[in-house]
Amino acid sequence: MSKTTDTAAHVLIVDDDPSAVLLMAHLLEPLGIMHVTTRGSQALELALAIRPDVILLDIEMPDADGLEVCRQIKAQAGLIDTPVLFVTSHADAPLEARALTAGAIDLIHKPVNPDIVRARVRNYIALKQQGDRLRQLSTTDGLTGVSNRRGFDIALEREWAHSGRSGDPLALIICDIDHFKGYNDALGHVAGDDCLRRVAQELERHARRSLDLAARYGGEEFVLLLPGCAGTDALGIGEGVLRGVSALGIEHPASATAPHVTVSVGLAVRNASHQSPQHFVQAADEALYRAKRSGRNRLEVADDHGGRAAVPTPP
Ligand code: GH3
Ligand code: MG
Ligand code: MG
Ligand code: MG
Repeated sequence: MSKTTDTAAHVLIVDDDPSAVLLMAHLLEPLGIMHVTTRGSQALELALAIRPDVILLDIEMPDADGLEVCRQIKAQAGLIDTPVLFVTSHADAPLEARALTAGAIDLIHKPVNPDIVRARVRNYIALKQQGDRLRQLSTTDGLTGVSNRRGFDIALEREWAHSGRSGDPLALIICDIDHFKGYNDALGHVAGDDCLRRVAQELERHARRSLDLAARYGGEEFVLLLPGCAGTDALGIGEGVLRGVSALGIEHPASATAPHVTVSVGLAVRNASHQSPQHFVQAADEALYRAKRSGRNRLEVADDHGGRAAVPTPP
């Protein structure tokens, strides 16, 4: 999911007839940004790159079967919610049924009525964007604005599978605010909520690459999932989070660790001893609890054997 919200609608038009493409693009121009191709075989690749809000697809094209293209589009996790409308000059009930079974949301019959086509496509775009907003909300933490536990679980499953297939590394940082109960007790829950927002923003600052994900795991516990990251890079980011939260300088009158808010950090880098995503999270969590037990405001790394590997407390 992209990190910025882009509300301009993107429309992908696929038809082997250049004049049909031009006519449709002209017709739908008021609805958003038009992307066009006369090559059915390029439709899937383009759709994956553009992530359009609606796709208008010709059924009959010399280089690709429109129904098959539609099935391929609908088989992609990232495109499953994208409405596909077939454009056809045939009034053919069996073909229409096959098109809908292939995953199309609707068909538009040629010759087209401009007002009806525009209105229909506008409605499908509105539905798609409404769905996007709901999906976004369902994975966002209402208090801090970072991803919620559900969003993290989805990303972890996806990145775990990807790293399993590709052999790319995967790192996970878990951090927990030190003495946060005392913070709430001393300053109140409104200040506590504000502190959670600031820590979440700090964590987000360290999620620099497009697939990095900062999430609120629960309560005052946050995670940072780092696909493609390992070794000293992962350690550097973990230490960055540790120092970054300290450097916010949020006064903490009830901490036995420091005069300001600190976190304890657990880091795990995927290895052969992690049998599942849950086991991987548990490894990072165990490292976090070692950091807690050995004095807080520090980072510990999960090693292959569950032993300890401490990083000294920053000044
Ligand atoms: P430790 O250093 O061992 O982590 O101690 P702690 O006090 O941080 O841990 P504990 O689990 O005892 O307390 C967590 C606190 O976090 C208790 C709870 O009220 C607070 N908390 C959890 N969610 C929220 C929230 O959404 N807002 C606020 N203000 N506080 C929250
Ligand atoms: Mg055609
Ligand atoms: Mg805590
Ligand atoms: Mg906690």
